[in-house]
Amino acid sequence: TEQQLRQAQKLEAVGRLAGGIAHDFNNVLTVIQSYAEVLSFELEERGEGREEVEAIRAAADRAAGLARQLLAFARRDVIIPRDVNVREVILGMQLILRRLVPPSVDLALELDEEPLVVRIDAGQLEQVVMNLAINAVDAMPDGGRLVVKTSAGPAGDDGRPTMTLEVADSGTGMSDEVRERLFEPFFTTKPAGRGTGLGLATSYAIVREAGGRIDVHSVPGDGSIFRVVLPQAEPSSDVKQRRSTPVRGID
Ligand code: ADP
Repeated sequence: TEQQLRQAQKLEAVGRLAGGIAHDFNNVLTVIQSYAEVLSFELEERGEGREEVEAIRAAADRAAGLARQLLAFARRDVIIPRDVNVREVILGMQLILRRLVPPSVDLALELDEEPLVVRIDAGQLEQVVMNLAINAVDAMPDGGRLVVKTSAGPAGDDGRPTMTLEVADSGTGMSDEVRERLFEPFFTTKPAGRGTGLGLATSYAIVREAGGRIDVHSVPGDGSIFRVVLPQAEPSSDVKQRRSTPVRGID
């Protein structure tokens, strides 16, 4: 629709602007970081002012992290959509996910045994799952349960089968006001330094690009479910072709 188009154009413009700024910003930060390092080294010998320099370094590192995220948000040129099995992508992220989740949060992966193949850049799909998982963890400061689940979804508008990837948390949930603004670039309710407000805007753009959508269900005080719905790839997918090639030893 026209509104979606306008939203996409806005994202594109913000992305370009952010990418340009982030790039210059990163160069400046590199200078700050390297001088802080030199200073910290010299001050160590004299035994003074170390904490202050450490604070500068920590702040510069945080800023560099933000610049990196901005760049990732703006950089859309190295994307290679392929047919990927969602189960394999998520299994490949297990270690990262377990590291992300604090001990107070139970992580459950409920992945469909059947191969669910979608056409998307695997790195971007990982980014979407990461963004949703980080938000879920942030919504559960007192612990809870994080479920990542895949299933064959209902047929989409065009009658093609879909894949549904759910990221569900038992956290704070959100108000209607937040719910309405979630996908806006730079919208965040997190304290400065913690949130950029780009996670969901980026995820939304990635999923749209792959022909899908993200639905949100949330009950304040009870938790939220983010549901990524993507069309399944056509059966003649390269994943299946590759998988049907037997791997043989030397005989
Ligand atoms: P950020 O995480 O940097 O704030 P996002 O775009 O990822 O940016 O999220 C925007 C806002 O949406 C968050 O600040 C938060 O208020 C809300 N939000 C996202 N996911 C959840 C969730 N699982 N539970 C509650 N609120 C959420």
